[in-house]
Amino acid sequence: MSKLLVIGCGGVASVAIQKCCQNSGTFTELCIASRTVSKCDALKEKLAGKTTTKITTAQVDADNVEELKALINGYKPDAVLNVALPYQDLTIMDACLACGVDYIDTANYEPENTDDPAWRALYEKRCKEEGFTAYFDYSWQWAYREKFREAGLTAILGSGFDPGVTSVFSAYALKHYFDEIHTIDILDCNGGDHGYAFATNFNPEINLREVSANGSYWEDGHWVETKPMEIHRTYDFPQVGEKDMYLLHHEEIESLAKNIPGVKRIRFFMTFGQSYLTHMKCLENVGMLSTSPVMFEGCEIVPIQFLKALLPDPATLGPRTKGKTNIGCIFTGIKDGKEKTIYIYNVCDHQECYQEVGSQAISYTTGVPAMIGAALVVNGAWKKPGVFNLEEMDPDPFMDLLNQYGLPWVVDEAPATVE
Ligand code: NDP
Repeated sequence: MSKLLVIGCGGVASVAIQKCCQNSGTFTELCIASRTVSKCDALKEKLAGKTTTKITTAQVDADNVEELKALINGYKPDAVLNVALPYQDLTIMDACLACGVDYIDTANYEPENTDDPAWRALYEKRCKEEGFTAYFDYSWQWAYREKFREAGLTAILGSGFDPGVTSVFSAYALKHYFDEIHTIDILDCNGGDHGYAFATNFNPEINLREVSANGSYWEDGHWVETKPMEIHRTYDFPQVGEKDMYLLHHEEIESLAKNIPGVKRIRFFMTFGQSYLTHMKCLENVGMLSTSPVMFEGCEIVPIQFLKALLPDPATLGPRTKGKTNIGCIFTGIKDGKEKTIYIYNVCDHQECYQEVGSQAISYTTGVPAMIGAALVVNGAWKKPGVFNLEEMDPDPFMDLLNQYGLPWVVDEAPATVE
């Protein structure tokens, strides 16, 4: 029995909330709060009569700590699930600390305005010290460890699929299959087709920032940075087939490098079709991916936000997207003195997700683990003071709930590896 406050009501939130309502024994009451309250009301209406979870809605600007505190103090939830945008991570963590409430999110902090001089100075220092140039990193949220520990509160960072399930797969592999893990290749394959020449599967601004950035991987204790899309491989994905994939920087590399003892190399690959890459390059070349405001006919606009307004809303891709995703990790290492390789992955079908919750598989594969992370905190299994990435927690209850709530996984003990 618990009360959950969900912040955000976009593609991922919609799935997470519907999954909370399937798990109404754990989530007896739920408040959906977001910037646009009409979206929260529409989802509440869609769920009316289908769940015993008692749902309320609220309007909140999650950039504003005082508004968040008023909402949290008024509703008195056991935990806050942040499925708004990474820009709001720190304000929501501050409000949770002030109100004495646990915190769960799906993506690490990055600033909305990357031209802010104060942020920029710290960012440039970090680029030099750490050796990667992504706008997002865990330092901001890891800095809350002591505060959460002292307050006796739990913060779980990155409870989506990647990061999230991939982090739990890593902990599970270490617990049950290896004495030492030497390499991790995280493979994110979307074999789905929505029929548009160009669209993103989750928030376009966050997605395009991530994909157009330099790639990087972790090797022998340091970062190796590459040009965007410089490293290309093909892989024959179970139930999807052969796909081109490209090495990207990804946030879980940073935490896995710290939390998986003795790991020598961690890489992340994502599949992209040629049409996506050509469109993205063209948009980048003409400045449409810029986050810096420009003046247009007397009005200040941010190019990437304007582009977002033109692109299909990822939440509307559900009915059109056909095919499957396959996301998982290939681990190599040692067990009982012998070399071992395993591949743990999940295959998710876009149309099956749409039939169940009205969303495509990218929102589904993120929303289900968001609900599971929140469930494990409120039911006490993952309740401990501090700020944690998922690989730091016991993977077993999470793996069980993945099977139960629609993301069954497979362990292949003789997989093909990536060069
Ligand atoms: P959407 O853009 O669909 O939804 C974001 C929601 O947050 C919207 O409802 C939006 O409100 C709300 N929001 C934005 N700003 C504020 C604010 N200041 N105050 C209150 N509400 C706000 O995004 P997605 O659902 O696609 O993504 C949600 C999160 O999931 C992101 O952080 C994303 O990075 C993460 N993600 C994680 C993945 C993983 O595997 N770990 C994979 C995919 C996504 P409005 O409707 O008014 O715009």
